[in-house]
Formats: sequence, C-alpha cells, structure tokens
Amino acid sequence: MHKTASKLADGRELVYYDREPGAVRDARDERPLEPAMSFSEIRLDPVLGDWVTVAAHRQQRTYHPPAGECPLCPSREGRLSEIPAADYEVAVFENRFPSLALGSAEHVAAHEDPLHTVRPAAGRCEVVCFTSDHDASFADLDEAKARLVLDAWTDRTAELSALPGVRQVYCFENRGEEIGVTLGHPHGQIYAFPFVAPRTAKMIVRAEEHRARTGRNLFEDLLATEQGSPERLVLRGEHWVAFVPFAARWPYEVHLYPKRRVADLTALDEAERAEFPGLYLDLLRRFDALFPAAPGAAPNRTPYIAAWHQAPAEGGGELALHLELFTVRRAPGKLKYLAGVESGLDAFVTDVSPEAAAARLRDAATPGR
Ligand SMILES: [Zn+2]
Repeated sequence: MHKTASKLADGRELVYYDREPGAVRDARDERPLEPAMSFSEIRLDPVLGDWVTVAAHRQQRTYHPPAGECPLCPSREGRLSEIPAADYEVAVFENRFPSLALGSAEHVAAHEDPLHTVRPAAGRCEVVCFTSDHDASFADLDEAKARLVLDAWTDRTAELSALPGVRQVYCFENRGEEIGVTLGHPHGQIYAFPFVAPRTAKMIVRAEEHRARTGRNLFEDLLATEQGSPERLVLRGEHWVAFVPFAARWPYEVHLYPKRRVADLTALDEAERAEFPGLYLDLLRRFDALFPAAPGAAPNRTPYIAAWHQAPAEGGGELALHLELFTVRRAPGKLKYLAGVESGLDAFVTDVSPEAAAARLRDAATPGR
C-alpha cells in the first residue's frame, strides 16, 4: 500500500491510497473554500450516561446531489470535487461537515456539572471513497481493491488513534438510501470519537463481568461456541469466521471475526489481511442475493450497515475486533423500522429467526459475479 497525503483548499487533509508505487497524486484543489469552523459539542445524558454529539451546523450539508455534481467523483475540467485528482484508487479526506472536529475545542467551552456536562466534540470525521467509479458498490470491487480499503482503514485507525483526545476509532459503511445515505458514490466513513461509544462501553462491561465470573474472555468463549454451532454459521475461512449472532437484532445480521482475538485492525497479521477481502466480498454478495431483483430489473442492492468494532485506545483489553454487517430489509420491498419498542426502549423484536437467517445466507447464490 502506498500513501500520498495532501491538503484541500480549506486545510482539510486528503490521503490517497494506491496499490502500486509511482502514482502521481499532486493535483491541487483549485476551489475557493473558506476554512470550516466547528461548533460541535458532546453532552452527557445524565440519565443514561451516554454521550450525545450535538452538531447543529450539519444541516447545510450536501443532500442527494445530481450524479454530475458528486463531490466524491474525481475532479474534471470545469467540475471540481472533493478529490482534485483526475482518478484515484482509494481516497480518504476529512469531512467538510463533520460532527466531530478537533477545531471545536477552540469554540466550545467545557462545562462539568452533574446534570449538564458539555465538552467540545473534539474528534475527527473522515470520508473513505472506495473507488472512483460512481456507479459501483463495495461488492463490485475485486479482492485487491477490497484489500486496499482494508489497508486504508488500518492506516486511518493507527493515525486517528494517535490524535490528542481520541478514545475510539470507528470505521463503517452505510449503503443505500434506505439507511439514509445522501451520496450515491460508494464510500464509507470513519469517526474518531473523544469518548467510548455506548455500545462499546456496554460490551466492555459484559466482557469484564464474564472474566470475573469465568476467568475467561467473553469473545474467545463466544467464538469457540459459535464455531461449533453449524445452525448459525455462514462462512468459515482459515482465519475468519462469520455467523449470525444468537440474539440477532436485525432481520439479517452477520458478525465476522478473526479467529485470533485482536484489539483492532492494526493488530491483524498478514495471513488475516490476505483472507479478509474474499470472505467479506462473499458476505456482501450474499446480502445482495437475499432479495433477487425481478427479471429485467436492475440488480438488487440490499441496504446495509457495516460496522467495525475496535477496542478503544484505553480500557478495551477484553474486546475483540469484529465487523457487524446487517440490513434493515426483512423482505422484498419491506423494511424493518425502529419503532416504539426499539427506539423507545432499545428492546429489539425481530421476526426472522437467527437460524433461519443463517440458512438463507448460506444458501444465497451469487450469480454473475
Ligand atoms: Zn461520484
């Protein structure tokens, strides 16, 4: 992996990742951009103990631009985008409308009291462009390209973890308008949080309780058990295993773990990195194959969220790196909405049994790829 770091016109960082050395990535951003200011803050919910990011300025962000004005396509004569180069393999840049920004520390004063705790949302939000091809999807990438994305995620994790005040780095992809994606170009995002996210904090507590009760690691026990539970297994490689969790929340949900417990992406070894792309692409293609398109219609693209869970920089010693992939689609044309029970109480009800979901994912054919 070869990396070229540069700056956009307003000072934001842009990094190109290339498979081969020698790519010239010196195009300049010619747009007249003013440096963006961030007034984002994080507020502590005194009742739940969760941090909530308040990023009111994001209302002006780009919303469903026409394809000709896509800010993630390479720049062309007369149409300048966020990526000055005429082409690229993988590009990562700081979000122009970030909910977390180190600069917020200059504009937001911290305030600590038991009911009203406020701090600057001093972190970073990045956009990861998986390909310059506007109409592609992650599942369309070849293995070498998917590996380059993995290497970019890994490099970003290392870089962002080292920023002052960053506690946790979260790489994810939202795919599909059903998920709320406002840009059609294939891309993911990375959030570098100044706090440990609520779900991660909960996992840490559960893992610490498991350790206290059994003397063992929760995730190692879980992987040993699920690898022996064929009814929920979806894919198994030499170094990774993918299964539907025992208490899945979403209609179709798969968790992909390296068999060796590691804290984060930077701790994967070469054999694990080499095997990941094939398995992950296979999983994504199975998701698309779950809901076949009608004859003559465009291929189905199942909306999904792909979420990398990584241990925070401190205090996550019991956690295990893994990817959680799930869709809100429960049947063709039908979405699972988070309604009163889920949104009101965080109590999930699913109408697809995890074992049935796993069987469908095992059987999902992936024609034409
Ligand atoms: Zn585009």
